[in-house]
Amino acid sequence: MKRADFSPLPDTKINLKDYDPDFHEDWNKQTAKDETDRLQERIQDLQERLYAEGKQALLIVVQAMDTGGKDGLIKKVFSGVNPQGVTVTSFKAPTPEELARDFLWRIHRHAPAKGFIGIFNRSHYEDVLVVRVNKLVPTEVWKSRYDHINAFERLLVESGTRILKFYLHISKAEQKERLLARLDNPNKHWKFSLGDLPVRERWDDYMKAYEDALTRCNTEYAPWHIVPANRKWYRDLFVTQVILKTLEAMNPRFPPAEAGLDQVVIPD
Ligand code: AMP
Ligand code: MG
Repeated sequence: MKRADFSPLPDTKINLKDYDPDFHEDWNKQTAKDETDRLQERIQDLQERLYAEGKQALLIVVQAMDTGGKDGLIKKVFSGVNPQGVTVTSFKAPTPEELARDFLWRIHRHAPAKGFIGIFNRSHYEDVLVVRVNKLVPTEVWKSRYDHINAFERLLVESGTRILKFYLHISKAEQKERLLARLDNPNKHWKFSLGDLPVRERWDDYMKAYEDALTRCNTEYAPWHIVPANRKWYRDLFVTQVILKTLEAMNPRFPPAEAGLDQVVIPD
């Protein structure tokens, strides 16, 4: 597989077994980190412009299995951007108040405002992943959600938001390593939840659910990227490259200066 295959075209049937979580082109840890740092400076400049312009928004959806690297990625890729222009929302199991509404109700209110980058750490996709695997709603309910998701994302895009979706793809063996590392490190115990173990047992069911979500909701206006994520440094570089390319295409511009600024004299 080549780099481009990890950003599949709409209507591609996704089989995750075809996607190597160790893929890293010709990069090594040092060259990838240096390149990521270099590209991040350009993201910082473009984010400043996006915020100043106040006309377009960028929504970044991050999904992964436990230990897939969602938190680490968000921390790395957005280190250095102006926090005033970025919102991060982590979606947990819905509250009773949220469960009493449609599944997109709690999501929509966190969509980024114009000028902002909004990051979703988990998202509306949980409603066709954990909800499906754990049979939290009847089959016909989760099955109808792919169309609802596509329509919802189209609404956001037509209202001035760009959408990028990243699935951080790790292997089951890599997850085991990372869970063991969490157990070994007292500073990481807070990240270890016994509830993650039954999820790991259902790995294959989750892969199937991910494949359907990635296949059915990979649209031209809200594309999925399958990020090889066994190597954290390649994961960070891959996502940084995609975000930078998107921000460049959005081409945000500083608003024009007020007329007469060249005449201004600042009084003593
Ligand atoms: P974490 O990301 O480790 O803080 O865990 C958040 C938990 O919330 C995960 O176990 C998710 O599966 C769960 N979660 C998120 N969204 C939903 C949802 N819509 N329905 C059920 N569980 C969810
Ligand atoms: Mg967790």
